[in-house]
Amino acid sequence: HDVPDFHTLAVECIAEETAAPLPRFGLPDSAFVSDGNMTKQEVRVVTLAKLAPRRGALLWDIGCGSGSVAIEWMRAARDARAIGIECRADRRALAVQNALALGTPGLKLIDATAPEGLADLPPPDAVFIGGGLTREVFEAAWKALAPFGRLVANAVTLEGEALLIALRSEFGGDLSRMAVARAKPVGSLSGWKPFMPVTQWSLTK
Ligand code: SAH
Repeated sequence: HDVPDFHTLAVECIAEETAAPLPRFGLPDSAFVSDGNMTKQEVRVVTLAKLAPRRGALLWDIGCGSGSVAIEWMRAARDARAIGIECRADRRALAVQNALALGTPGLKLIDATAPEGLADLPPPDAVFIGGGLTREVFEAAWKALAPFGRLVANAVTLEGEALLIALRSEFGGDLSRMAVARAKPVGSLSGWKPFMPVTQWSLTK
């Protein structure tokens, strides 16, 4: 049975006063502060499942933005560790704020534009590429990844998707495409508000 640390407990008690307590895994988007550039819950949950969090394992979250994937990774398994690589200071600040609020103050943030900076980091057990996807970034991450480690890359642009298709033909793995829409008010009725489809490549080293 997982005993939450004091910080998590405090945050969950506060959350309980205003709304339902936060789940350990599969947080709603409203649990995070962001500038809108955040993987949405439906896609984040699948991304996490494919990264396969394990006790003590280290994640590199490349282009971590507001840190949602790294924070969920750390909450998902005991002693799970994460390093977020993010080139924008405003987004690193959001990630720090989220990590403190959600009970994962150990999230490490690196100010770098990948692949710069990756070679200096401890080798990961899993890698998520959620921003800055290039062949060079993939190759640097793949080289550092532990044997049997998991790598997941998400793309929303045609160029990013084309790279994932090319990489899959060289390295194997699985491609999937998620087109999420959420029901929103349309006048007094409701309609589907789509998000940009996400192409996801995942593989095991
Ligand atoms: N992974 C985030 C989404 C972040 S959006 C989430 O799931 O919530 C993509 C992010 O990648 C942006 O914040 C952008 O600043 C960052 N980014 C883009 N290219 C990068 C690079 N080469 N190195 C580091 N960060 C990069």
